[in-house]
Amino acid sequence: METRSISVLGATGSIGLSTLDVVRRHPGRFSIHALTASTRAEELAVLCREFRPKVAVMADPEAAVVLSELLVDFPDTKVLAGLDGLCEVASDPAVDTVMAAIVGAAGLSPTLSAVRAGKRVLLANKEALVMSGKLFMDAVAGAGAELLPIDSEHNAIFQCMPADKVRDPGGAGITRILLTASGGPFREHSADDLRTVTPAQACAHPNWSMGQKISVDSATLMNKGLELIEACWLFNTTPESVEVHVHPESIIHSMVEYADGSVLAQLGSPDMRTPIANGLAWPERIDAGVAPLDLFAIGSFHFERPDLERFPCLRLAAEAFKAGGTAPAVLNAANEVAVAAFLQGTLCFSDIPVIIERTMSSTVVEPANSFDMIFAKDKEARARAREQIDLLTV
Ligand code: NAD
Ligand code: MG
Repeated sequence: METRSISVLGATGSIGLSTLDVVRRHPGRFSIHALTASTRAEELAVLCREFRPKVAVMADPEAAVVLSELLVDFPDTKVLAGLDGLCEVASDPAVDTVMAAIVGAAGLSPTLSAVRAGKRVLLANKEALVMSGKLFMDAVAGAGAELLPIDSEHNAIFQCMPADKVRDPGGAGITRILLTASGGPFREHSADDLRTVTPAQACAHPNWSMGQKISVDSATLMNKGLELIEACWLFNTTPESVEVHVHPESIIHSMVEYADGSVLAQLGSPDMRTPIANGLAWPERIDAGVAPLDLFAIGSFHFERPDLERFPCLRLAAEAFKAGGTAPAVLNAANEVAVAAFLQGTLCFSDIPVIIERTMSSTVVEPANSFDMIFAKDKEARARAREQIDLLTV
């Protein structure tokens, strides 16, 4: 068995740590080339001592200085800083697999570096694909990169499709994708109650333990909106062929419907180590440390339609995909700014979609001809979203 050399982008995050937990269970099968983080030098230093990467990168230059000091007695690991360092470890010829687990638009450049270098790219960082859509998929095809979905729903869909028809679901007789959603912690809240929910409540997801940003996205249903767009690009389809099913138990991670009426589903405990292990070892199967599913304990499954009145973010995402061009990049940027303001306590939960909608309607949609264009629109939309927040809060 060949040892796979891995760079983990976003190693200190929820996905990063779950990835390292799977790697830890399989010494010999995987080796860690690089670990990266944003600001938490102490946490990365601990991981470096355990996994002995050749390189560690702190996105924040000051944190890189701290990490160098923490690792002064540990010459195995070289410390790099900033975006250049992230892109370097994503594209290093010594690496064959890159876990793209940075949160938000900050992950686009490093993930793209991995794609352009033709790596096996394990895509958790859905925002990178949402922002750049066709440009990203063209880069994957152009470089012959192997893009494997880690988002649990997309990994489920991937598992329910013939491997050679992932980009041609119609050719496989697939008629519909059934994208499941937990509904988040506020599934049963009234519109009035949603105005007063706190960041702590939003981050307390009923089934999944995740980073703060995606937890808030799950609570607004923007996560499902981003995932709708993600599914359209990954599986070369349109929102009309993807139907969101709220499934509060989060055991069925998504389903694929075929022309003969068959519906294939992938089930499992809500634990990201399952899709991560699937991506790391694909096409083989390895132990992920996940407890076997106990369907007797779960008892029953429920399904409902999403409520787009109380949770408009899902509708906004579908509109952004339809508008095309730079619209999804604007949607994503406005969402990141609004979620950060909510987490800081300067924006109420129900105003997250208001800010996104206002930012989208005040930003001209242009053709997404280049990554430079995407980055420029991302910047422009962030400035507009901040203006809209200021207008609401004065
Ligand atoms: P997290 O907040 O727990 O971790 C984010 C990681 O990114 C950290 O290591 C952090 O240091 C790094 N980071 C943050 N900002 C950065 C920057 N500007 N530059 C470089 N690095 C930076 O997030 P998470 O929950 O692990 O999510 C990571 C990605 O995976 C997101 O795109 C999320 O949507 C996706 N995802 C997460 C889950 C989950 O269960 N957590 C499930 C599906 C998809
Ligand atoms: Mg998901």
